[in-house]
Amino acid sequence: MLVAKDGQREVLAEEACRQKHYLCPECDAPVIVRKGQINIAHFAHVHANNCAAGMGETAEHLTGKKQIFRWAEMRGWQPRMEYYCASIQQRPDVLAHIDGRPTVLEFQCSPLSVCRLMERNDGYRQQGWQYCWILGSPYRRHLGRQKSAQFLQNINGKLVIPYWNTQDSQIEYQLYPRQHLRLSVAQVNKQLNTFQQYNDATTIDLHRQLKMMGHYMLDCPIFCHTINYALPSTKHLLLLWRMKVAVYLMNAPIFTSWSVRKWVASLLELGKDEWTITPCLTRNNYLGRLEIKWLTQLLIDAGYLMCDRHNIVLLRRPRWFRSWNEKQIALRKAFTHHC
Ligand SMILES: [Zn+2]
Repeated sequence: MLVAKDGQREVLAEEACRQKHYLCPECDAPVIVRKGQINIAHFAHVHANNCAAGMGETAEHLTGKKQIFRWAEMRGWQPRMEYYCASIQQRPDVLAHIDGRPTVLEFQCSPLSVCRLMERNDGYRQQGWQYCWILGSPYRRHLGRQKSAQFLQNINGKLVIPYWNTQDSQIEYQLYPRQHLRLSVAQVNKQLNTFQQYNDATTIDLHRQLKMMGHYMLDCPIFCHTINYALPSTKHLLLLWRMKVAVYLMNAPIFTSWSVRKWVASLLELGKDEWTITPCLTRNNYLGRLEIKWLTQLLIDAGYLMCDRHNIVLLRRPRWFRSWNEKQIALRKAFTHHC
């Protein structure tokens, strides 16, 4: 921890003197300042106890937290270090005021479960605070889809995961493109290969359903493939959800009409086992809704759907390819030309 109590006053570790005793702001036990060679100045309990303050803090976390504090200070955000909020019993690393809005800046270096993260965010939201989770080096290795989704944030309209670089003392953003990416035929086939190895219940169920209709999963319509690989909206490949939408439309009568609200709800429901949890994006199922928006536009452009102001109408049903060969020809045509 970088802050301790000196009577009623709060002291930063770098301004504390070695001889004095201070009190832990969390448990009121005595703490001393440590100024070592590896760690920056920080407070530690005189006697080890179960107090959460300072527990398991790495050198990187201490350094980064202080740098983030200074960085916020330089930007005029009037930061407070390790500010304790009694009503939610939480102590964010830094509480800053960005454009007049209280904003929590958390520097996360240790593992954190989705559940715990949601609780923390709930607390901040209760206070009317914004929050930003900045990740440390342990998160720099390849994150799985659920982990990426967990820390994905919307900063100034961009979908990003922020990282703090303690070497250069600066923030870095990993950007997640908000658009569809064109795939090559090779990429589509690679995607299908990966997909073939799935044997979870949802995939097997879809496979069975298609078989009864006389189709193979791999011969799905081409619109199932134009996706944003990078965006961690689903646990597995988004392809699975798109296929389910295709089947849904194949089984709907022509000129079926959905209200926009009903349409979105139905498509969210089709992916209910697949959507990742995104506790740092404010709107519930933000990524799922984004995927629906993209797919709907794609289906309108391809002439399957029509949208008047309030309703979505089915004009044409998607068609499954009759053979792998037929699909490969269609794929080459679709992906080598403009489309
Ligand atoms: Zn303590």
